[in-house]
Parts: sequence; structure tokens; C-alpha cells
Amino acid sequence: MTQAAQIRRMPIELANKIAAGEVVQRPASAVKELLENAIDAGATDISVLIRASGSNLIQVRDNGTGMSSQDAAQCFERHATSKIAQAEDLENIRTLGFRGEALASIAAIAQVSLKTKRQEDTEGTHVRIEGGEVTETSPCAIAVGTTINVRNLFFNVPARRSFLKAPTTEFRHISEVFVTCALANPWTAFRLEHEKQEVYRLPGSRAENFLDALRERLRVILGSNVARHLVQVDEGTSYISASGFLAHPEHARKSRKNQYLFVNGRPIKSPSLNHAIRSAYDAILPEEQKPAYALFLSVDPRNVDVNVHPSKIEVRFNDDRGVYNFVQAICRRALGVAELIPQHPGAVSSLSFQQERSDSSGSWSPPARADELPALHGQQTSIVYEVEPSRLPSGADPKPSGFLWQLQDSYILTQLSNGILVVDQYAAHQRILFENALEDLRSGAGLSQQLLFHHLICLTQQDCQLLRELDPLAKALGFDYSISENRTVTVRGVPSHIRVGAEKELLQSILDGYKESSETELAPLPAEEKMARSLATRGAIQPGVKLSDEGMRTLIDRLFECKEPYRTPGGKPTLIRVTLEELNRRFDQRMTDHGEPDEIIP
Ligand code: ADP
Ligand code: MG
Repeated sequence: MTQAAQIRRMPIELANKIAAGEVVQRPASAVKELLENAIDAGATDISVLIRASGSNLIQVRDNGTGMSSQDAAQCFERHATSKIAQAEDLENIRTLGFRGEALASIAAIAQVSLKTKRQEDTEGTHVRIEGGEVTETSPCAIAVGTTINVRNLFFNVPARRSFLKAPTTEFRHISEVFVTCALANPWTAFRLEHEKQEVYRLPGSRAENFLDALRERLRVILGSNVARHLVQVDEGTSYISASGFLAHPEHARKSRKNQYLFVNGRPIKSPSLNHAIRSAYDAILPEEQKPAYALFLSVDPRNVDVNVHPSKIEVRFNDDRGVYNFVQAICRRALGVAELIPQHPGAVSSLSFQQERSDSSGSWSPPARADELPALHGQQTSIVYEVEPSRLPSGADPKPSGFLWQLQDSYILTQLSNGILVVDQYAAHQRILFENALEDLRSGAGLSQQLLFHHLICLTQQDCQLLRELDPLAKALGFDYSISENRTVTVRGVPSHIRVGAEKELLQSILDGYKESSETELAPLPAEEKMARSLATRGAIQPGVKLSDEGMRTLIDRLFECKEPYRTPGGKPTLIRVTLEELNRRFDQRMTDHGEPDEIIP
């Protein structure tokens, strides 16, 4: 038997070294912490100098507030921070740092020299610290701000040092950290130098608006080609807002490079939100392609926990799912809208959708979805709409300026940045109704439109039985009816967002549709899905129905708010794009003597 080891308190230097491993995994992590400190200190000009991919020297120089000589000596102590004083402050973090751990960790595993001076001091302070031991404190001459030199990182942790990857890999990480920080602070000037070569020089933007400043920075970082076709996102609810840019699908790449995500100005990694954004591109990008983006989310600090990871790159929202849905919806919408109009600067933003700001504080609900299509044509109907105020359509701007044209009363045509878009109105409305119906079935709260004249139908024995089985689903969709002894059904209300004219036959035809899909589907579908599909196919506006301008616009808007806007529940396309290349190719053919293009001659 082995003897139980005796418990001892470990020496502070050892504890610091171990903790350092969590904060400083590689040179890039030290660069990140130093950059964040400079930002927290209000610097407007930050310069980073690197030698040997950070293993020989990392220098960060800033023109921020600087530190008093007392703070300069103290800042290397663990849990020394000027950023939080009490536990409540943790709920309300607005600085990048707050743990007071970074400098202590870096100093535990490197030779560090700090020079710093505040505006009000006549001289600066120089502190040297090595493996956690202060070796020198003296006055020095320096401009206002702080310069930190970190030499020989991991000099006393050989195992760590030997784990470093190839210098190019380590420098790539540094450069990534640098770029990320520069994107989040576009008004700050940044410079990065490696082995005496200038890698980036980014002047601070003078734009007043954050998105304009960010766009300038993206131009340098992604290149002007990519920056020219950025899709702007700028939307918010009372819980969350998002602004930033998504790259055009044609600039997607195979690598995840250039995917930048921030929460309250803090860079984060979130596989789930990456997925939300990627899924917005689903129908326009092959699977292996990764779009570039820079997206900034902001939420009340009380609704997000940034303290779940030692290097603060993971966050948790008190409503993760709601955030996922929001991000997916706004990206989908931004991409959808951008495709609908010719791309010129400003055009996209002028269309950007203002999410209704609800008064409920704290609690968050996903973006309001389309609950009803306004009457798509002006027919007189005997319908009394009973719409609860809370479920009125969102504040979505229903009037994009793009020109819409209805072909054969069946297809909606509109111009894209690089071609034309043809939307099948019946297919599109099916998709919208289907997703609405699924949501109603989930929430059990479908809206009902009350019929002015109750409608009587006489059901067969079999249908009557089926309706009794489906009763909870039918009611959840918004049907309001009662069944009498002799199989007569009195229909008093029907789901509210179906096409005008479908009310009378709807219940019967949904039962028929339900039975059909039970017979024809290869894989058995859940009852909810069969109901939703059947409502969608029976309740959607048919081909041959004339739509108003407003109706067309609403239809397209709502389509792009869907989770899967590009196909019907049955798998048929809802829209087709014809690109300019395709048109050019077809016009660029030699004509035969008969005056017809080669292609269509058999
Ligand atoms: P944290 O950022 O979590 O507070 P750090 O260990 O990174 O912890 O820094 C400790 C403290 O040192 C900070 O709270 C700040 O007061 C001070 N400090 C660090 N870097 C700078 C800087 N570049 N300019 C001014 N003060 C700084
Ligand atoms: Mg810090």
C-alpha cells in the first residue's frame, strides 16, 4: 500500500506558475492580455513588436492612462486589479480584464520590464520582474502611457516552451489576436511589427459611426475586394443587438479564418453562434465553404457570463437558444435582403430591419415572426380578424425599394445584385405557413380568425374519428369548432394566416391532406409535421392569384424570415436565381441562320 501523501500549501511562485498555464498558453495569449490592458487603459495608439514569434520578445506600447509608481509595483501581484472592487461588479463588467491575473501570470513565466507614466506625474516608473520576483524599481523617463517588454516567455517552464508550435504557427496566432483586437477598436491606431518588418499599420478611423469605422478597418484586413461586397447587419431588440458585416458568399473560403465574433466588445469563440451564422448561408454556399464575418453582439452585461473560461473567450447567455435564433434570423434576413437589391454602398443599410422594441425588460423572446400575411388581394370577405395586440406583425419594414413584378400571377420577379430572382408565390407561402404552423403546434397558441357565418361540414365516420384524434393539434393551429352527435362539425374559426377564400373548405381538406401524406410518405412523419404540411399546401395562396405590391413584398420578407426559406416542406424550390453570368453565357452564342441560338436547336 502506498502511504497517503502529506498535504502542504504550495509555494506562491509555484502556484503562480501553474495558474499562468491557464492564462498564458502560448505567446499569443500574452499578446491578447497586454492588448486588452492597453484598451482598458483608454489607449488610442497601440504598437506591438514581436521577435521570434513572441518567444524572445513581446513588446506592447500604449498611450493610455499609465500607472502611478505604487500601482506599477503592485500590478504584478495576483488578483491585483483596478477594475473590480466588489462581487457585485462581476455582474456588470465593462472592461476586458477584471481578474487581475494576467500580469501576475505573465511575470511568473517570463522576464518582464514595465515602464509607465501618468499625465499628472513628473517622472515615470520602471519595474523589472523575473519569474515573479521584482528585481528593480526605479524612476525613468517615458511619455504618458505604458510599455511592457516580455522576454523569454516560458524560460522557467521548459516543458511549455517545448510545446510551442512552429514559429509561423505561433506568429499566425499572434496576428489573429492582433487583428481581432483591432477590429473591435476601429478608432484606435494599431501597428504590428515582426522581426523588424511592419506587418500591419492601421490608422485610427475618424468615422463617427461604429459600422463605418469597422468597414474601413475591414477594408485593410480583408482586402478591398471583399470589403466592397459586405452585407451590413444592424438590428436589435430590447435584449440584444447585433451589428457588423457578413461577407458575400462568393468570398467564402475553406478555412475558418476571418470569422470574428464579439460580445460587448470582447472577442469570443462560439461554435453554436458560428453555426447560426453559417446556417444562414446554407442554401447559397457549398457545405465546405466558410463565410467571413465580423459580428458584434451587445447585451446587458447582467445577461451574459464572461467568466466561464480562463482566457475569457467563451461566454454564456441566460438565453443561449434565443440568442442563437436571433443571430440566425438576422443573418438570414440580411443576406436575403442584400440579394434582392443592386449592391451599392448604403443600399443595404437603408433596408435594414428595425426589430420591434418590446417593453418587457430582462426577458427575451426571439424576433417576432410573421403571424399573418396582410390581405394579399382586395377581395371582400366575411372574416373577422381577431388578432391579439401582442401578435401583430413585427416592426419589419415591409417596403424594400427593389422593384417587384408578378409574372402570370404566379411568380414574383426581382433584381439581384448579380442577376434575377424568381419566387414561386405558392411555394413561398407554403414554406411560411408551414413554419408558422409548426410554431403554433409547439406553443399551442395559433391565432384564430372567427368566421362571421359559422360553417357546417358533414364528416364521414372515418374522418370524424380522425378529427377527434387530431383535435388538440387542430385547436393549436387555430381551428375553433365543435362536433355534434351526427358527425356534423360547426366551424367557428380557422387559422388566421391562411389565404383568403380557403376558410370554408379548409378543415375538410386538411383532413384529406393528412390522410394523403400518411399514405404517400416513405418515412412516417410525426403527426404535427403532417398537420403543418397539410395546412401549408391547402392554406397557401395559389398560382393565378394577383398580389399587390405590398403583398409581394410581405411574402418575400416573410420568406426570408423562415428557417429554411429555400424549399417547400415537400422539398421543392421556393425560388430560383438566374445569375448574370448565366444570362451573359446564353446571350453570348452564335446565332444560326434561322436566327435562333445554337443551344435551342435540337
Ligand atoms: P486585469 O486587467 O484583469 O485587471 P491585469 O493583470 O491584466 O489584470 O492588470 C492588472 C492591473 O494593472 C490592471 O487592473 C490595471 O490597473 C493595471 N494595468 C495593466 N496594464 C496596464 C496598462 N497598459 N495601462 C494602465 N494600467 C495597466
Ligand atoms: Mg488585463
